[in-house]
Amino acid sequence: MQNAHIRKEADFMGNSKVEAFLITLEEHQLGHDLRLTSDDATIGDMLEALSDFAEKHLYKCLGCDGCCYERAPLTILDIPALATLLPAGKFPAHMVCQAFAEVYIDQDGIIDIALRRDEQGACLFLDKERKCCRHWQSRPFVCRSHFCLPRSNRLEALRQDIVNNGENELIRVLLCEQADGATPLILPSIDIINYPPDQAYLSQEWQRIKVKSLVSSKFWRKLR
Ligand code: SF4
Ligand code: SF4
Repeated sequence: MQNAHIRKEADFMGNSKVEAFLITLEEHQLGHDLRLTSDDATIGDMLEALSDFAEKHLYKCLGCDGCCYERAPLTILDIPALATLLPAGKFPAHMVCQAFAEVYIDQDGIIDIALRRDEQGACLFLDKERKCCRHWQSRPFVCRSHFCLPRSNRLEALRQDIVNNGENELIRVLLCEQADGATPLILPSIDIINYPPDQAYLSQEWQRIKVKSLVSSKFWRKLR
C-alpha cells in the first residue's frame, strides 16, 4: 500500500447528505470516516463524498500495484458501468461476468465473483507498465470506496455490507439468467432459494439506492 500521501488541511468534504473527513486513530495514525447526514443519502452520495475527500486530502489515486493485485469482488451495482466496456448495447449480468469476472466456489458452496486476474494476480484492468487502471471510470464499488488510508470501523462495516449483499444479489441475478437459458457460470447445484431477492438493490444503480435501506436501524444510528 502506498498510504499516507496526505495533505493535512482537515475539514469536511462531501455533499448535503454525506460528509467524509480525516480522523486520528490509535498511535496518532491518520484515517478517514464518513457521516451520513440525511435519510435520503444514497450509495452515489457516499461515493461522491469519498471522491471529493480523496481529491482534497490524498494524492490522486488512479490504481497501482498497491492494491490492484488484490481480489476485487463484484456486486450487482457494478454491472452497468462494466457493461459500457462491451460493444454497444445493454448487456445482461452473465455476459459482463463472462467478459471480465471469475466465479469461485469453495468446498462449502460459498460463491465469490471477482474481476479476473492474471497469473501474477494482477487485475485484468491494471496497466502494469503505467501502474494505473485502464478503466477507471468503470471500476467497481470496492475500488471506488478504497483508499490506502485506514477506515473507521463503521465505514469498514458499511463497505463490507454493501459488497457482501451486492455480491449476493449479483449471484441471484446470474442464477435467474441461467434458469432462462444463459450460459451457466454458477453450478446448477446451487439453489436460488438461498439467494432471496434483496429489494434494496432492485434498481441496480448506486445513485438511487438509499444507504438507510441497506442497514439495520441500529447501524443506521451509528452512521449518523
Ligand atoms: S488506493 Fe490507489 S494509490 Fe493507494 S494503493 Fe490502492 S490503487 Fe494504489
Ligand atoms: S478495476 Fe482498476 S482500480 Fe480496481 S483493481 Fe482493477 S485495475 Fe485496480
